[in-house]
Amino acid sequence: MVYWGASAHRFPFTHCKQNAQRADFAYAKKGFIDPWSAVAPGAVKGTILSLGDELYERALGAYLGFAVGDALGATVEFMTPSEIQNTYGMHRDIIGGGWLKLKPGQITDDTQMSLALGQSIIDSGGWQATAAADAFVTWLRSKPVDVGNTCRRGIQRYITDGTLAGPMNEGDAGNGACMRNLPLALATLNDDEAFAHATLEQGHLTHHHPLSDAATLALGRMTRTLIRGGGIKECRTEANRLIGEFPLFRFEPYPKRASGYVVNSAQTVLYYFFRTDSFESCVTEVVNCGEDADTNGALAGMLAGAAYGVSGIPGYWLKKLDKKIKFRIEEQTKALLTLAQNVKAKRGS
Ligand code: MN
Ligand code: MN
Repeated sequence: MVYWGASAHRFPFTHCKQNAQRADFAYAKKGFIDPWSAVAPGAVKGTILSLGDELYERALGAYLGFAVGDALGATVEFMTPSEIQNTYGMHRDIIGGGWLKLKPGQITDDTQMSLALGQSIIDSGGWQATAAADAFVTWLRSKPVDVGNTCRRGIQRYITDGTLAGPMNEGDAGNGACMRNLPLALATLNDDEAFAHATLEQGHLTHHHPLSDAATLALGRMTRTLIRGGGIKECRTEANRLIGEFPLFRFEPYPKRASGYVVNSAQTVLYYFFRTDSFESCVTEVVNCGEDADTNGALAGMLAGAAYGVSGIPGYWLKKLDKKIKFRIEEQTKALLTLAQNVKAKRGS
């Protein structure tokens, strides 16, 4: 079922006539949609495009920040804080290794599943649960370096019986649905209802649990708020709302657990996000908590990247990131934001 943006092949960012013409021209000339042609930096100076650039900066910061957190954290995944301390002191370099024996800059299932989801959204022209499920199947069959148990079980279920969700399950409160939801947050950036609806369907493909739902929605909403320029204070309101609904998520005082249980994961990410003032300090603090360090690092990188923008991510981390992954993230960010503009245009018309 397609909920939004299904076939609205409209051009993005057509705020002014000049832009619309540019986009039409690009389309007619090349015969395909160049999602970014209408928003090339400096294309129309002094217009709404400068706002678009800032928004892109933060959206790209979120996605690249996510991958950087994954690549940095993977080295210390499943270690305890004291094991990390004894081995690395403060772990702060993207050096690969870890239990997956990664190359420096290599990412894991967290970023791979996000990219699979993002591509399915782009190829379908909007959210389609079956397209996302198929993309996860293709990913699972690609012999990924790592697969979470709940993710594997959910994808296997879809392969076996074609269902897009299992029944509610006590064991489904891991962070696997939450970790890969960023592309959906970007593609629905202008439509909160579509975001909430699609997010629950996305999560339930593998994780059907109220705590997974709550965390995935809350972290997604915070990221969206930040990308739209809402600031960290507004994020705090969203965090308080989550705790109001499920007091289990309370993160002050910090409970000092950073496992893949979505509650621990969200607590670790939120605790450090709100008490640090840079991308580097936020992500470093989180990954040094160990346990599910790559996933927690990725989620911290998503929030911090959305807050501080891509320019806030240390260059020496970005440089280390797998170049092909970096390129795919840049391409997807543009295409997903373009879809978000289509949703807005559709609703507004
Ligand atoms: Mn991982
Ligand atoms: Mn992990």
